Amino acid sequence: MPITPQPGIMQIALYKGGQSTLPGHPDVLKLSSNESPWGPSPEVGPALAQAAQTLNRYPSTDHAALRAAIAEVYGLDAERVICGVGSDEVLQFAAQCYAGPGDEVIYTEHGFAMYPIFANAVGAAPVKVAERERRVDVDAILAACTERTALVFVTNPGNPTGTTLPEAELVRLAEGLPERALLIVDGAYDEFAAERDVGLRLAERDNVLATRTFSKLFGLGGLRIGWGYGPAAVIEVLNRVRQPFNLSQVQLAAAEAAVRDQAFAREVQAETLVQRARLTEGLQALGIACDESEANFVLARFADEAEAGACDEALREVGIIVRRVTGYGFPEALRMTVGRPEEVDRLLSALSRFKGAA
Ligand SMILES: *Cc1c(COP(=O)(O)O)cnc(C)c1O
Repeated sequence: MPITPQPGIMQIALYKGGQSTLPGHPDVLKLSSNESPWGPSPEVGPALAQAAQTLNRYPSTDHAALRAAIAEVYGLDAERVICGVGSDEVLQFAAQCYAGPGDEVIYTEHGFAMYPIFANAVGAAPVKVAERERRVDVDAILAACTERTALVFVTNPGNPTGTTLPEAELVRLAEGLPERALLIVDGAYDEFAAERDVGLRLAERDNVLATRTFSKLFGLGGLRIGWGYGPAAVIEVLNRVRQPFNLSQVQLAAAEAAVRDQAFAREVQAETLVQRARLTEGLQALGIACDESEANFVLARFADEAEAGACDEALREVGIIVRRVTGYGFPEALRMTVGRPEEVDRLLSALSRFKGAA
C-alpha cells in the first residue's frame, strides 16, 4: 500500500491568493484582496515593539487579555470567544470538530472558496447551494439540508457579492436547520454593513457560531488574527483542537491594541463607506453594473467574460490589480477593493479610459 493521503485531500485545489506585483510597474495599486488601504491603528506599532521585548517567552495559551478586550468592545461573554490564526483557523476548527466522512457541509454558490476546502480536508462532502440574484437563498439552503448536514457556512456580507441578508432571514435559517447542524455566520466584512453584528446576536442561539477577523477593517491581514463567538458548548469543543500556542504574543498584542482603538476603526469604517459610494457611482456612471455593496469592495459586472477579461488586462497595463472571480461563479465580473480617495480616482480614470476605448 503506497503512502496515501486521507479521503478528500486530493479534491482540494491549491488556494490562489490575489496577485500583488506586476513586472515593470513600480507603483502597483493592489485592489485584489480586500485589504485595508489605511493600515492598522497607530496603537499597533508600539504594542508590537513592546511584545518584541519578551520573544523568549511562550505566549498566553488562553488569550485572556485579547478575549477580554473583544468582549468589552462588543458587549460579549469573554468565555464564549475563541481566537485563531485568522478567522480561517476558527472555521477550520469547526469543520474538524463537527464534520467528517459521510457528513455534508453546505455552502452557497458564491461563497468563500475556503469552505469546500475545509469540508474536503475532513473527508466531508461539500454541497453547493444556489443563490438568488447574488443573494444567499434561505429556502434553497433549508431544502438542501439532510440528516447528514453537519455544517452550513454563510458569509454575511457576502464575498464577492457584497450583499447581506436581513437578520430575520438568518434567524429563519438558524431555526429551520436540522437539529445536528451548526450554522456558521462568517462576518469578515461585518463592520462595513448597514446592519452590524448580526452574527454575534445570532450566536446567542445554541446552533450558531459567528466569526470575525482583524484582516479587513483592522488592517492586520499580514498578522493573521481572527475570532469566533458561539455557544459555550461549541467554544469548549473548538478549544480542544486549538493548539495552546496558536497565536504568538505579537499577534495577541497587536489585535488587542487594534480592537481597543475604536476611534480609529470608526474612522476607517466611515471613510470606506464614503469611498465605496464614490466607486459605486463612478462604475454606474460608466455603465458598469454593480449591486449596492455592504463590504469594502464592489463587484463590477461587465457585459460578458470577454469584456471582464479585457478590462482586467487594461487595468494591469496601468499597474492596477483587481480580482477575477470566475471561481466564485462570476466570469463576467471583477471584484474591486475600496481604496483611498486617490486610489479610487486612479481606478475610475483607468476604467473610464477602458470604456472610452471600447
Ligand atoms: C477575508 C475573509 C475572511 C478572513 O480570513 P482571515 O483568515 O481572518 O484573514 C474570512 N471569510 C471571508 C469570506 C473573507 O473574505
